[in-house]
Amino acid sequence: MGSIKTDSINQFARRGYLVRVTCAACGHQQLKHPVEMMQALHSRKISLRVEVVERHLKCSECGARAARIEPSMP
Ligand SMILES: [Zn+2]
Repeated sequence: MGSIKTDSINQFARRGYLVRVTCAACGHQQLKHPVEMMQALHSRKISLRVEVVERHLKCSECGARAARIEPSMP
């Protein structure tokens, strides 16, 4: 399969991946649907770039802003 570039949330959607968000502080994981994320980000006028989204996500468990985003096969 080679290297897959998923540096933008819409690439997750295009490839049919889910977005796995892992909190680097407490390890809490959440699976999100990329299309729903894109709509939420768009309405808040936030870039779809993964590095930007990571900075905006807040952990629902511990409240830390230490998200890591990875692709997840559904
Ligand atoms: Zn956390």
